[in-house]
Amino acid sequence: MAQRKKLIIGNWKMNLNVHEASIFVHTIAKDVAVHRDVEVVLAPTALALQPISLQINRRQFKLAAQNFYHQDQGAFTGEVSATQLRGLVEYALVGHSERRHIFHESDKDIRAKVQAAIRNHIKPVLCIGETAQQKADGETNDCLHDQLVGGLANVTSEELEKVVIAYEPVWAIGTGNNASPSDVEKATRAIRSQIKHLYGEASAESVHVLYGGSVKADSAATYLQVPGVDGLLIGGASLDRQAFLSIVSKAHGAAATQDASA
Ligand code: PEP
Repeated sequence: MAQRKKLIIGNWKMNLNVHEASIFVHTIAKDVAVHRDVEVVLAPTALALQPISLQINRRQFKLAAQNFYHQDQGAFTGEVSATQLRGLVEYALVGHSERRHIFHESDKDIRAKVQAAIRNHIKPVLCIGETAQQKADGETNDCLHDQLVGGLANVTSEELEKVVIAYEPVWAIGTGNNASPSDVEKATRAIRSQIKHLYGEASAESVHVLYGGSVKADSAATYLQVPGVDGLLIGGASLDRQAFLSIVSKAHGAAATQDASA
């Protein structure tokens, strides 16, 4: 079976202006090696996507949009569509907990965005995860199930090959609270089992599943070793040059170990 690439996505959220973002990319580019089994993806402010797309070596970095609107064009003042992002970004975050909880995006909105991304040849990174209350109530698997079914309705098994799933427990994002490796393993297993139920064994084996939630340089290797985890979605630590470089180099190490044991 083909090995799944390691994916490291840096979500800069609403930080760094265009100039700062460009300098940040310039300073890390010197130290990010190109590795065929690791993809390093940057999600800067939408304003910086165009200039950074001209600056990067696309073998070294891919770009992701943090958000977009589900319609392709029209009278939607202030919005950016996947059609406008097409060719500029390889990935787009969809259903990030900050979009779900601060901007009240529903599963219906998220489903429409997944469809828009796929229609525009952008790989959606579907973020799913339970709240602290759902965890306390033992509802993690139900939540993951509902968000997966809600986000992936209408996605065919062929289209699923372009979809990345990110398990991001809401209570772990930006809080410094770490999910335990065993919780991450359980959630990842539940996600693959649901994908198997929806799309079959081969899809469950091939789909990329990431973990995100307060990952730092010193915890990255642990999560990268969790069975079934194919990479990390990093918020805060992706804005710290040394921390991000260290996380990327750990993904290189994890990919190399996999190569050696294949
Ligand atoms: C995120 O924004 O997806 C995230 C995981 O943030 P942090 O790493 O800061 O928790």
